[in-house]
Amino acid sequence: MSGTTRAATAALALSEATEQLCAASVADARLEAELLLAHACGIDRAHLIARLKDPLKPTTIAAFRRLLARRLAHEPLAYITGCREFYGIDILCGPAALVPRPESELLVDLALAEVRARGAALRIADVGTGSGAIACAVAAHAAAARVCAVDVSSAALALACRNVEALGLGGRVDVGQGDLLGGLGALDVVVANLPYVSESEWCGLQPEVRDFEPREALVAGIAGTELNARLLAQAPAHLARGGLLALEMGPTHARALSAVARTHFPGASVSVIKDLGGHDRVLLVRQGEEARWRTTT
Ligand code: GLN
Repeated sequence: MSGTTRAATAALALSEATEQLCAASVADARLEAELLLAHACGIDRAHLIARLKDPLKPTTIAAFRRLLARRLAHEPLAYITGCREFYGIDILCGPAALVPRPESELLVDLALAEVRARGAALRIADVGTGSGAIACAVAAHAAAARVCAVDVSSAALALACRNVEALGLGGRVDVGQGDLLGGLGALDVVVANLPYVSESEWCGLQPEVRDFEPREALVAGIAGTELNARLLAQAPAHLARGGLLALEMGPTHARALSAVARTHFPGASVSVIKDLGGHDRVLLVRQGEEARWRTTT
């Protein structure tokens, strides 16, 4: 990409960009180069791959350079392209919220399994919804489900609303501002990907995360368990009999959060689910059938 004549074809532009991304320690450099060039061309990756020998227009080369410079500065790809695939749907992304991550798809799996087992009339909440990815994925895959998506951040909620609208889920995903479960009534399923990074872990995160994603969506406090623990303390007043609570957590938090869960849910079954990388990732609390919930209005 050093001169306009050298980067005449997509193939050449890609090999030069891949080299630069590799040198900047970007993982999956070739794939990311392809996605950036496809974005600059306004086509999808499959079409780009079919046209590697085509010459690029100077305006496309200029646009690709601008996108590449941002990625070389470690801005996340999803913020540059404005989109990330999550659970089979396209989620609009931006710096107001975390980029949806594959491990959070576990929460969608769990909510959908619950809908299949118990019917779509379940009252479902996605707490700390951010971009709305989890709420939208659940609603998109469970035709009759109605999902409540809450967050404290109004900037994140604006993005969540854009996603609800773009996916045609208006009327099925209710987006609202709130502090965890405060303001919500009785629920059958609660899923949450709250901030769970500790203050000290945050400093060591990769620049894509630390320097670009909202700190308030990542850092929970000194331990990293603070917000999940607070949610566990609130949850008994909201979770209906037989209800399910699924919290994404840091891989070292299973023991501490299981203990917190047992304190607040003495009759419940508490378990831990691993992600595809083999790390403890989701704390699951199943409220006993006999438990009685108290409504907070
Ligand atoms: N898994 C994310 C990360 O390590 C953290 C997400 C979160 O705090 N909810 O970057």
